[in-house]
Amino acid sequence: MKKNDPNRKDIKGLTPIKTTKEWKLLYFQHDRPGLEESSHPTGLCRHCELRDSCTLPKRRSGVWHCEFYKATARKKTSLYENVINQLKKAEDVVHFDQDICRILAETTNELIVHFPVKMDGGTVTMLTGYRVQHNNALGPFKGGLRFHPLVDIDEIRALSTLMTWKTAITNIPFGGAKGGLQIDPADYSIQELEKITRRFTFALGNNIGPEYDIPAPDVNTNPQIMAWILDTYMSTVTPNERNRCLHVVTGKPIEAGGSKGRYKATGQGIVFLIEKWAKDNGFNLKGATFTVQGFGNVGSWAARLMKKHGSKLIAVEDITGVILNKEGIDPDDLADYVEEHGGVLDYPKAKPIDHETFFKTKADIFIPAALENQITAETAEILNVKLVAEGANGPTDPEGDKVLQRKKIDVIPDILCNSGGVIVSYFEWLQNKRSEFWDLDEVDYKLHKMIVDAYERVRDTAEKFKVDWRTAAHIVAISRLELVYKERGIFP
Ligand code: NAD
Repeated sequence: MKKNDPNRKDIKGLTPIKTTKEWKLLYFQHDRPGLEESSHPTGLCRHCELRDSCTLPKRRSGVWHCEFYKATARKKTSLYENVINQLKKAEDVVHFDQDICRILAETTNELIVHFPVKMDGGTVTMLTGYRVQHNNALGPFKGGLRFHPLVDIDEIRALSTLMTWKTAITNIPFGGAKGGLQIDPADYSIQELEKITRRFTFALGNNIGPEYDIPAPDVNTNPQIMAWILDTYMSTVTPNERNRCLHVVTGKPIEAGGSKGRYKATGQGIVFLIEKWAKDNGFNLKGATFTVQGFGNVGSWAARLMKKHGSKLIAVEDITGVILNKEGIDPDDLADYVEEHGGVLDYPKAKPIDHETFFKTKADIFIPAALENQITAETAEILNVKLVAEGANGPTDPEGDKVLQRKKIDVIPDILCNSGGVIVSYFEWLQNKRSEFWDLDEVDYKLHKMIVDAYERVRDTAEKFKVDWRTAAHIVAISRLELVYKERGIFP
């Protein structure tokens, strides 16, 4: 059944009631019994990207309805524009070679694939997938695959560029790439999702490969999806090569060639860096409070590992709702609840709050671990924390960044802060190539060393050039790429 079919019963208790051409919106009516407009915990639909600035009606008397998603006019800022402006900001401080800056301001390859998939009911759906390869001067292209209804070429371009910076900062021999499918996985059965993943992998063909471009999990993708990609890719090569391509994808389940510690790697990296920041600033993490936006892989693992330091999680926002408990929320218990219920909505050991109250909540540390452009001029203004540790990619827009700097809120920028995932992906890739299997202590030890070394490079650069940490992180990344280009020259 098509997404805009008015008869379609949607998952998550939402039923579509209207589509408008102008905005390409789907309206949904909440059909959860007892959940009236006034009792909706967020007060505003979390699916609508425009949030407060949306001019379309959000409520009708007696029922809750919301905008599901809309097309191009939706985005207030282009993530790619932000990423390129940040590159220019670093160029203004260190006068990098302009030829190299011109190379880095462009992506190398951009692939858009349209492919058919047969659904459970026998109908055929056409889907659109993306893979953007930004740069491979330092090694094979590397980056996640995102399954989300708002995925588009601008977003994937931006995320692939951020991957190049990330691998350069951490001294990993990889380049940067990113891919995605414009779908909401929750709309499909598990069998459909497997078919979609396999067909997408087949459509990508030799544009990915263990020594060429290596995908990994990102928003709404997981080890199971990585295993399907591996299996599909392996099925397209000769029997002789089959076991030589285990490293075509990382973030696999352990049994399928994954690495110990990969599942928690991004969260673990964030917590190693928060530990380091706390040590550098004489800050005691025991009893410190923190809030998390996004309670998926990254957010939930960061929260669980912060608990080990005696820090207290007090508020969480995800796509389903926002919750607060100033006495503390047990991240392990919440993770079990989210696993069972699909989100934090109605978590019984905390009270529902709205988006604005979430941002206003006083805490020591804020970990954004959802999507991009969440910390804007408005939300940064009400944010009441000492440190923002960016788990998500691009969570702060340029205006939000200025406000954070003015308010002297420390920021561990995304390209450093969430690099734990790609670092352990690199370990997984190495283990697969060498037919090795490292234990968890070894993975954690090596991750700690690499990510703290990167932190020190960024910190020292910020001090040397007297710039904010985001600009410093870019300077570290671009300096490394500049050196490599200068040594190797430009072909021919
Ligand atoms: P995930 O799919 O596991 O979780 C995403 C979370 O964000 C969910 O809890 C979802 O409910 C929430 N969310 C989505 N839209 C939201 C909204 N509008 N408001 C509030 N919450 C919302 O994804 P993930 O793998 O945890 O990735 C989260 C972020 O971290 C992304 O920006 C991703 O690019 C980045 N990241 C992930 C990895 C990784 O290893 N998975 C590595 C580096 C960076």
